[in-house]
Amino acid sequence: MSDCLFCKMATGEISPEILYEDAELLAFRDINPHAPSHFLVIPKRHIATINDLQAGDAELVGKLYLAAARVAADLGVAEAGYRTVMNCNADAGQTVFHIHLHVLAGRHLAWPPG
Ligand code: AMP
Ligand code: ZN
Repeated sequence: MSDCLFCKMATGEISPEILYEDAELLAFRDINPHAPSHFLVIPKRHIATINDLQAGDAELVGKLYLAAARVAADLGVAEAGYRTVMNCNADAGQTVFHIHLHVLAGRHLAWPPG
């Protein structure tokens, strides 16, 4: 989608601080981090929300988690732990409508979340 911020990152039109990239995925640091390590993992293909996922996207979603674990290990935060969150629509506070897995690490994360 031409007006989607994360599609522009996927095509290289906008350059975030990239932590991992392959043919299908991109991981980059969140511009407004809520933890010492806060990065996002996105599919390069535009999918607006979790509600738009199709059965055929199951493997792609699994790959988001594999990439999250890989980057967490690369950053040295995997053993201490981290939180993954994917917000969906207004009540969860989704602001960018291209699915993205948040990965937060580097501090104690309270539970339950707000
Ligand atoms: P959400 O509120 O779950 O839709 O998360 C969107 C996230 O994208 C927020 O944490 C933003 O800080 C992050 N974000 C927005 N613009 C950028 C950008 N240009 N580079 C990196 N992260 C961004
Ligand atoms: Zn998009």
